[in-house]
Amino acid sequence: MCAYLDAHHLHHTTERMTILQIACELRTFSVEELRKALVEINISRATIYNNLNLLEKAGVLRRLDKEFGVRAGQYELILPHSSTIKIVCQRCGRVSEIKDSTIIRMLADKKFSNFVPEYFTLYVHGHCKVCRRQKRKP
Ligand SMILES: [Zn+2]
Repeated sequence: MCAYLDAHHLHHTTERMTILQIACELRTFSVEELRKALVEINISRATIYNNLNLLEKAGVLRRLDKEFGVRAGQYELILPHSSTIKIVCQRCGRVSEIKDSTIIRMLADKKFSNFVPEYFTLYVHGHCKVCRRQKRKP
């Protein structure tokens, strides 16, 4: 984690280390989820937002609502050289990481002409269980 901050020329403040540690555990999270995880530590809302902005600018985190235009305040940890599959709800914008060894293996084995793949991030768009249930209600 310290190497992560050093590589991005960020100081190791206690608050930043704690936020980064939780981001590493959650990998994909909303600001609310992060705040819940930080509830026992006295970190102000402003400090949380300042650190999220800094970590985003440094390329440690990616803000997903910029990417998908929905559900403000969702972030993901940028994991270089690591393949991930994420499902994105088009209605509420919730992004979750899923594990699917079949897809991971299939894409890892895929041959491209004049290109050698190293890793990938796959976003699968659709509707989550909650939104599908709400859609059915009259
Ligand atoms: Zn949804």
